[in-house]
Amino acid sequence: MTRIAVTGAAGRMGKALIEAIDLNPSVHLTVALERPGSSLIGVDAGELAGIGSNGVKVIGDIRQALEQFDVLIDFTSPDATLANADACAFSGRKMVIGTTGFTPEQRTQLVSMADRTALCMASNFSTGVNLCFKLLDMAASVLGDEVDIEIYEAHHRHKVDAPSGTALSMGQVVASALGRDLSEVAVYGREGQTGARDRQTIGFATVRAGDIVGDHTVMFAAEGERVEITHKASSRMSFARGAVRAAGWLQKKETGLFDMQDVLGLK
Ligand code: NAP
Repeated sequence: MTRIAVTGAAGRMGKALIEAIDLNPSVHLTVALERPGSSLIGVDAGELAGIGSNGVKVIGDIRQALEQFDVLIDFTSPDATLANADACAFSGRKMVIGTTGFTPEQRTQLVSMADRTALCMASNFSTGVNLCFKLLDMAASVLGDEVDIEIYEAHHRHKVDAPSGTALSMGQVVASALGRDLSEVAVYGREGQTGARDRQTIGFATVRAGDIVGDHTVMFAAEGERVEITHKASSRMSFARGAVRAAGWLQKKETGLFDMQDVLGLK
């Protein structure tokens, strides 16, 4: 049985992860972490997640618990995730990383840690979204340069980064299939006298409102027809279940950087 630690245990995803671990008989929650100094240190993690007591008390320092888990699942913030990855790489603990919003430099730092331990990183851990990545690759390859490609995403009002990591990953899949460099062709929002659309560009539109868990649509629009590939998440449990599945899969790996496509065998 895989022993799992969850950090950001009081967060929206942290609570969903604790519930998903509880529902999966092949894994076991052994450690729950929150920000050092948090008022929640010492609180029962199961009570925090609303599933009833599970006897795991929230702690604030990962170094106290490195021997007590096999895989850390981290959906927090880029700085917290980097610090945790450093501790995990040093001690050979594996890590599932769901945090988004890393700078290119932070991403490079994380990638370098995969020489010392196994990491699974994905901007979206839902099975449906990962299937969409595969469909997008197929659609872009077939429709090619004959279409305008636009990516729309909507999330709840608390989300702090934009466009979403998932929208960027979708853009990356489409750009790679078409041999384009996303950093050169991405257009993040439009305003004023923008001029006519350049077909090579990939447009992004972001909505932040209410409690939307996560909507993504990629539109391939030609003269006379368009194809839209849409995914709508209605519960954070879709991400949490995928991350827990990834943790079980990752336990068998020694080192390397993996993603959810590896976990699902979609490569
Ligand atoms: P959230 O509700 O703000 O939760 C983040 C939690 O992490 C908070 O409880 C926060 O505590 C805690 N935290 C911050 N620094 C910490 C530290 N140093 N040690 C321990 N805990 C720490 O946010 P969320 O909606 O759960 O999202 C978290 C991240 O996951 C975001 O980057 C989001 O984009 C990403 N996400 C990814 C996926 C995916 O499938 N990959 C899906 C959903 C969300 P404080 O409140 O004290 O700061």
